[in-house]
Amino acid sequence: MPTHKEVKLAHYVRIVVMDLSRLDGLRGCGGAGFPAAFKWNAVRDEPLVGTPEMGGGKVIVCNADEGEPGTFKDGWLFREQPEVVLRGMQRAAEFAGAARGYVYLRPEYVDQLESLKTAIASLVASGILSEGSGALWAGAGFAGRPAKPHDTGLDDVALSALDWFVEHGAKGLQGSKTEHGGLATGHAFGEGLAFPLTPRRSDPVEPASETGFAFRVDICIGGGAYICGEETALLESMEGRRPQPRHKPPYPTQAGLWGLPTLMNNVETFWWAERLLSGEFEGEGGTHRLYSLSGDVNQPGVYEAPVGITAQELVDQFGGGVKDGAEVSCWIPGGAATGVLPGSLLSTSLSSKGLKEVGTAPGTAAVVIFAKRDPRDVAANIMQFFAQESCSQCTPCRLGCRAVASWLSGSTAFPDADTEERWLESMELGSICGLGFTAPLVLRLWRRWFSESGVVV
Ligand code: SF4
Repeated sequence: MPTHKEVKLAHYVRIVVMDLSRLDGLRGCGGAGFPAAFKWNAVRDEPLVGTPEMGGGKVIVCNADEGEPGTFKDGWLFREQPEVVLRGMQRAAEFAGAARGYVYLRPEYVDQLESLKTAIASLVASGILSEGSGALWAGAGFAGRPAKPHDTGLDDVALSALDWFVEHGAKGLQGSKTEHGGLATGHAFGEGLAFPLTPRRSDPVEPASETGFAFRVDICIGGGAYICGEETALLESMEGRRPQPRHKPPYPTQAGLWGLPTLMNNVETFWWAERLLSGEFEGEGGTHRLYSLSGDVNQPGVYEAPVGITAQELVDQFGGGVKDGAEVSCWIPGGAATGVLPGSLLSTSLSSKGLKEVGTAPGTAAVVIFAKRDPRDVAANIMQFFAQESCSQCTPCRLGCRAVASWLSGSTAFPDADTEERWLESMELGSICGLGFTAPLVLRLWRRWFSESGVVV
């Protein structure tokens, strides 16, 4: 007869045999595009750290800190289909042997929090999630935000993630705009939000009645910094520290939240995983994505479309065409980090291959169309955003983003070509995380496709 302790331990280490071949081709949808199945297998293969009584085990984290300008598909998913995402997390937990899961939610997603809480309660009632699921606490996360919005030394920082949504046609898809653009504090969530931060939890998780598997999902409200979308900064935020990205290795799959093996995926990635593994989506993984389409189109919104679709087809078939039939001056292919392309490249396939040929990547599949904006102005605006949101721990990123923003905005003159290249190289080689080492792409892309006076292709 097993002891009570052994029964509890068994719940933590139980791993379900699951054919992951359906996930072949599915890449993370949060921007980096890492193969999903690789992470799932890596966490399953990691040995357990400690015992459940010591707070050990493995962890599932859903990254819902959707802050990439132009991107709002995760917010849409948590409004419309939170149960599918949660079921994807539960499936990942059974596969990897995790007893605890956390949704790290962007603080502006007030409506989504309500639908998420309702979905968790429903899944607890139906025996899919364990009793006790749905506790709330607040993460730390103001690293990228100056105390006053204009202390950056730059001109008025015109762009924040939420400003972008509101200004570029995605009205009604997001929560309310806050005073400084997108920065919300815990007050918006009312009662039930735990301050101070909840420490590492070690209370037992009881098996859910329907599945017989112990998996509890709680919610951590993000702190508001863009950098919290970077997975290790997110973990720092959850642990209550200033959210600066960690050096890797170790990777979160090895030592993530509280040092435990952690499987972190984007909201959409869990959504696709559930649809693929349940058979609800019959195609192959990675053949379709959710596109956040906004800007000067007649019908901005979230659209499921094939990965090989061109931007022009997306605009025409889903977005109802460009507003007033205007000519597109420039567009963003996959969120701000993927830079700015000229309107003449709208026939580019939005696949990795197609976008690589023009010097960029699919990112978060957030396509923003501009009919009248000056491309240099858009590029400068993006760099100002990165300068504001840099967590400042790497000198090349901290100074480089500000310098490039200043050059593009015209506040200071560009240096000579060699000096400019040294700045960009130092950012690419000397930055800890993706913000710093991909930010030079914005200037490189602008140099490739635009001249000071206009499009050169
Ligand atoms: S690259 Fe930038 S955002 Fe990333 S860790 Fe370094 S300073 Fe922070």
